[in-house]
Amino acid sequence: MQFRDLHRHYEAMKAEMDEALLRVAASGAYIMGSQVAELEQQLAAYVGMKHCISCANGTDALWLALRALGLKAGDAVFVPDFTFFSTAEAPAILDLVPVFVDVDARTFNMDVNDLERKWQQACNNGLHPAAVIAVDLFGLPADYDAIVDFCSRKHLPLIEDGAQGFGGSIRGKRACSFGDIATTSFFPAKPLGCYGDGGALFTNDDRYADLLRSLRVHGKGTDKYDNVRLGLNSRLDTLQAAILQVKLRHFDDELKAVDRVAAKYSQLLAGKVQTPVVPEGYTSSWAQYTIQTPNRDDLQARLKAAGVPSMVYYPHTMSRQTAFAHLNQAPCPVADKLSRTVLSLPMHPYMTDEDIETVASLI
Ligand SMILES: *Cc1c(COP(=O)(O)O)cnc(C)c1O
Repeated sequence: MQFRDLHRHYEAMKAEMDEALLRVAASGAYIMGSQVAELEQQLAAYVGMKHCISCANGTDALWLALRALGLKAGDAVFVPDFTFFSTAEAPAILDLVPVFVDVDARTFNMDVNDLERKWQQACNNGLHPAAVIAVDLFGLPADYDAIVDFCSRKHLPLIEDGAQGFGGSIRGKRACSFGDIATTSFFPAKPLGCYGDGGALFTNDDRYADLLRSLRVHGKGTDKYDNVRLGLNSRLDTLQAAILQVKLRHFDDELKAVDRVAAKYSQLLAGKVQTPVVPEGYTSSWAQYTIQTPNRDDLQARLKAAGVPSMVYYPHTMSRQTAFAHLNQAPCPVADKLSRTVLSLPMHPYMTDEDIETVASLI
């Protein structure tokens, strides 16, 4: 059994994919070919945002978003304590101070009550609160009703890190449409994955969109060789754009398929372990199906012995990362507990009922 069966994705759309790949190979337009702008329009329409700016990966997307907001070195940026490293790495590498916020034990996402507390603490410590990065962990959008309300009360820009969230929604409003700027990743194992690295940003703000388009190509001005600021070389390859165009056509079917897998898991595992919670009105794109159990390590060993792969996302919280030890921030209790109890099970659109039953019976 595969944890995330990427080969089956390819097999399921092989003829279309091969044609798209060969068309790029024959075109010679390997950088910024027509597929890139086409894909950006399709993604913007899918998400319901005015602009989509593609880039090289989800980590660059966060870096670019923070640069576009024009934050100053030393400013505080609030990030969840329980996330992939990039969410906190991007502000830190720009000399911003990541402030770690605890998460909700049921949704794994940023807890707004703790955000309120950490904001007050940051002010008391003389830090200047400058932005919030909320994460749609494991495919579930964060609590944007409360987070957007908090950000507008405090006049803080919001970045939605939708690297895992693309495809999820709240009352029909799609992930990557909640922040002033939203970011996503097309890393192969993400809900919408390409065949290498890729990423994108979304915004409704024309000024941010212009800045992001400049920043992703070395800070270019209107004249390509007049560089008006420092940026990155962070374009999405034409080949990856062509791959994503094919995958986007199948994406809604895949979302339905993973939702079916999740429902079946939850039905079979109810009462045995804590199953993931999807609040009323929300949908998840199921980047991961993550259970919680106090006997996590035993269970993982038992699954492994039976040939079932599973993963621990994440064994270390941000406040306990070696790279952030110098920040001396107090650990977050809920995130700490999750890091000891979470286990992500095999999850992909091509799982059979038999696969799901095999995994569930071992639990
Ligand atoms: C994967 C991921 C990223 C980074 O994306 P890359 O394309 O791998 O750089 C950022 N944030 C979260 C929450 C992620 O899961």
